Amino acid sequence: MSSLKNSFKIAVLPGDGIGREVMPACLEVIDAAVKVAGAPPMSFETHQAGAQFYAESGEALPASALEACRKADAILFGAMGWPDIRFPDGTEIIPQLDLRMEFGLFAGVRPIRWFPGLPKVLSDPRAEGIDFVLIREQTEGLFYARGRGEIRDDQEAYDTMQITRAGTERVTEFAFQIAAQRKRRGRPGVVTCVDKANVFSSMAFFRKIFDEVAEKHPDVQKDYAYVDALALNMVKKPWALDVLVTENMFGDILSDLAAGLIGGMGMAASADIGEHYGLFQPAHGTAPDIAGKGVANPSAMILSGAMMLDWLAVKHREPKLADAARLIEAAVEHTLSTKTAVPMEYGGGANCADMTRSVIGALGAVR
Ligand code: ATP
Ligand code: MG
Repeated sequence: MSSLKNSFKIAVLPGDGIGREVMPACLEVIDAAVKVAGAPPMSFETHQAGAQFYAESGEALPASALEACRKADAILFGAMGWPDIRFPDGTEIIPQLDLRMEFGLFAGVRPIRWFPGLPKVLSDPRAEGIDFVLIREQTEGLFYARGRGEIRDDQEAYDTMQITRAGTERVTEFAFQIAAQRKRRGRPGVVTCVDKANVFSSMAFFRKIFDEVAEKHPDVQKDYAYVDALALNMVKKPWALDVLVTENMFGDILSDLAAGLIGGMGMAASADIGEHYGLFQPAHGTAPDIAGKGVANPSAMILSGAMMLDWLAVKHREPKLADAARLIEAAVEHTLSTKTAVPMEYGGGANCADMTRSVIGALGAVR
């Protein structure tokens, strides 16, 4: 049965810094791709939120924006936060963390794949086979400590790691399902539990729950790695990795390392998935060092948009949206592999607008 929806409502939060530069690029590419694929159009509704908006209005994430996100079919998010703009208590403005809690976006999905045209960060030719997915738990772990930390008499400081049975079950179950889907694409189908179970009881508990969930998936292999050893292997033989699942903080660190393997943050797409909601954003931040110059690589944002189309395609049984997602991926690949435009991030001359134009131009060629 095909979808009965003839258009999709998308809440758009460009945010701060390069979020405001890469978001228009993404929207243009999505518009063009759904047209080429003959898929239902998206109607975008943009809302202000973030550090800059806080400076102007005193609100970082207004109720109206939250309400719009709740009513939309999906959420597109640029990046939020700015070094000089902080809450009165000195903490950073990071509404993305609030959104994860608000909408129960427990799984951070970060696909890492090398394809022709990307920088060869590792000299080993097998690095061309890098193709893995990092699943980061996003509602608890060490980030539970946010806003709850304690400093005693200026002598001691404490943060708490929270690992719950329910939180670990849902994220590991999600990882096994992803691995099963990838297996069908001819991949080995291995989920690696990344933890520090040899030191922390919270992490030993995480691994225990992982084992229980693995029992339900005899068709997918399971593996374990301590996070330090995994960091080493991610650099030494990343082509051996398939699906990784880990707690919030480890996932935060490993996803930046993983992005480094394919050239940088400008390629790192990501999806925040919950039971009912999906938010799609690049894994990078607002990049204050390059913001305002129009030089950001929009690929990560554009590829996150493709992840959104894939998610909508499954949810609403609309295969043409998946066709549009494949077109976008192929157009980004085509742009990079033919060097039609080489992002400034990789030492080329293409700025954000050049990249966008090339990707849109390639949509016809890869069809
Ligand atoms: P956050 O705290 O939100 O994770 P961050 O401080 O880790 O942010 P990012 O904004 O992710 O920083 O940027 C890290 C580095 O990667 C910076 O040098 C930035 O310029 C670069 N970078 C990030 N995104 C892009 C992009 N889309 N194109 C080019 N360079 C980028
Ligand atoms: Mg970062």
